[in-house]
Amino acid sequence: MTPPRTLLKVENLTKRFGGLVAVNDMTFDVKEHEVMGLIGPNGSGKTTTMNLISGAFGPSTGTISMNNRVLSGLPAHEITRAGISRTFQLVKVLPGLSLTENVIAGAAFGHKKRWGAEAVDMAHQLLIRVGLETQIDLPVTSLTYIDQKRLELARALAGEPEVLLLDEWLAGLNPTELQDGIALISDLRKEGRTIILVEHVMDAIRSLCDRCVVMNSGTKIAEGTPQDVLSDPEVIRAYLGD
Ligand code: ADP
Repeated sequence: MTPPRTLLKVENLTKRFGGLVAVNDMTFDVKEHEVMGLIGPNGSGKTTTMNLISGAFGPSTGTISMNNRVLSGLPAHEITRAGISRTFQLVKVLPGLSLTENVIAGAAFGHKKRWGAEAVDMAHQLLIRVGLETQIDLPVTSLTYIDQKRLELARALAGEPEVLLLDEWLAGLNPTELQDGIALISDLRKEGRTIILVEHVMDAIRSLCDRCVVMNSGTKIAEGTPQDVLSDPEVIRAYLGD
């Protein structure tokens, strides 16, 4: 069997905000078809790492590359075009547009630039896929929180990304919604998608992640299977905050 191919490489990534080092010399890679969990206590630098990968801002030092092409330093829209789409910790839907138009925006600005009838068709399929088929004609502003998250996921998928970044996509859901959300991500995993998952929900980390990188105070403190890292004393100490 051929070993999994490295898709995304993060090397010596550092981000300073004034005197604060939010991400400190992080190095990790993401293999094709894996779900990699980026975990750690609050304030450990996970969202900043996601912001660096998606190009919300550039690193202070270090590089991010995908398929051996350096992406760090490119603006966010070019990174999306290169094949990285994301959802946000605080959901960002476009309230003036219909559900379908929200998803079409993802297709038009995504990796494969789909427009017109093809994009509309794809948007409908994705809205069904994420469980929004009965809400298709509703205004976006009437959607519940979970449905806004579903919409954001459909929009990210419409970009046909090579790497999908999910930033606490499961946060704030009730227990039933959480099970549905885990099932949805689990289906994406079975399809062989490559995903970076920033997550706090331990059940989700255990059932969805092939591998985890654990951050604390901006640095990587552990890496391995969910089982291994979640039983690592240093990781437990970091979560408990000593
Ligand atoms: P996590 O996602 O693990 O909770 P963050 O990446 O959000 O952690 O934050 C890491 C650190 O960087 C925190 O101390 C946070 O306050 C700081 N930080 C994040 N974004 C900014 C910013 N835009 N400006 C200044 N400080 C920031």
